[in-house]
Order: sequence, then structure tokens, then C-alpha cells
Amino acid sequence: MVAHDNKKDDLVEWVAFNKGTLAQHNLYATGDTGKKVMDKVGLSVNLLKSGSYGGDMEIGAMIANGRLDYLIFFWDPLSSLPHDVDVKALLRVAVLYNVPTACNRSTADLIISSQLFQSGEYVPAKERAKK
Ligand code: PGA
Repeated sequence: MVAHDNKKDDLVEWVAFNKGTLAQHNLYATGDTGKKVMDKVGLSVNLLKSGSYGGDMEIGAMIANGRLDYLIFFWDPLSSLPHDVDVKALLRVAVLYNVPTACNRSTADLIISSQLFQSGEYVPAKERAKK
């Protein structure tokens, strides 16, 4: 999970609403997003670095290494950030590895309510780079 500052409240609200489902998964988040989720919702989250200090890239590396199944990334379309290049790189890697990605709440709702998600049986076809 990653949420830019203007989107953190949205993400926290979404996580709180889906707490029971999310509690069954190993959750990872960039630093400030994860701290806010833990503080407000009480779920346990593995904290990565803050996004602007490399957290987005850590998530990208996890995707490249097959360690993340879903990406919930509430990025802010109305602000430019010092780490915009990292945002672009993360979205690129998520598409490259065909990881289900929600960039807004409605898509996150559709993913988490899907039977494929809930069964835990969905394995996306990997469009991995050849090497
Ligand atoms: P943060 O990082 O969760 O540490 O705020 C998110 C981001 O800015 O990409």
C-alpha cells in the first residue's frame, strides 16, 4: 500500500472498511502510509522506507522479485512530487509484471471484493522480462 499525502485519509478509510479481509494478508506499505494505517486502524503492517526516500522503489523491487501479489497505490493526480520518477517507475514495474494495481478507491473496492481475490487462488499470468 502506498498513498500520497492528499490520499492517505482515503486509504485509511478503505483499509478500515476492509480490515477483516486485509488482516488475513501480509501487508507492506511505505513508511508514513503504513504508520498511519497502523495508528488509525490497528492492523499490523511491514513498514518500508518513506516513499520520497526510496519506499516506492522498495515496493518495485518486491514486485520484480515476485514478493507482492497486489498493489494498492493511491497516488495524487493533482500534485507533483520530488519522487515523481519513482512513482512512474513503480507503475511501470507493476504493469510489466502484471500485478493487479488499484490507483483509486473504486478499483481497490473491485479488487478486494472479487471472488478471485477472496479465494486466494488467482495467479496472474506473468509477463516477466526474459532474464
Ligand atoms: P509515504 O510515501 O507513505 O512514506 O508517505 C508515499 C509516497 O510518497 O510515495
